Amino acid sequence: MKYAKNLLTSDKARPIFPSFRHDQDSPYVRRVLQLDAETVPGAEFYSEAKWIVPGNASAEGIVMVDSHTHPWRELVSFFGFDYENILDLGAEIEFTIDHEKHLITRSFSAFIPAGVPHGPLIIRNVRKPIFHFTAAETGSYE
Ligand SMILES: [Zn+2]
Repeated sequence: MKYAKNLLTSDKARPIFPSFRHDQDSPYVRRVLQLDAETVPGAEFYSEAKWIVPGNASAEGIVMVDSHTHPWRELVSFFGFDYENILDLGAEIEFTIDHEKHLITRSFSAFIPAGVPHGPLIIRNVRKPIFHFTAAETGSYE
């Protein structure tokens, strides 16, 4: 079938990220899938999906990423899993976009224009599972 290769059902074996990324597999952050030009040949697109679960009691929180900039646009999303209150994030996320520090407690999607610095992104006080999805117009996250 022509598009069988476009259906991704297993994660990238050894993902390599720039040093500003800290959100690799841990007891509280679990990767699901990463679609990019390597996992789906020909994709001029990148996405990652992760679950984040309660349990990290550190004062620092879960630092997902430091401040960084890239030449492609990006979607950054976090969705709390509370079926009775679907927009409650169930955690606090600190996300700096172009020197504006946002404190977020609701499920959200953020559009980051190309060339705009963003991060750090820090997750604290996770009370319920959170689904994280990000996507960008690049075949390779570098
Ligand atoms: Zn980014």
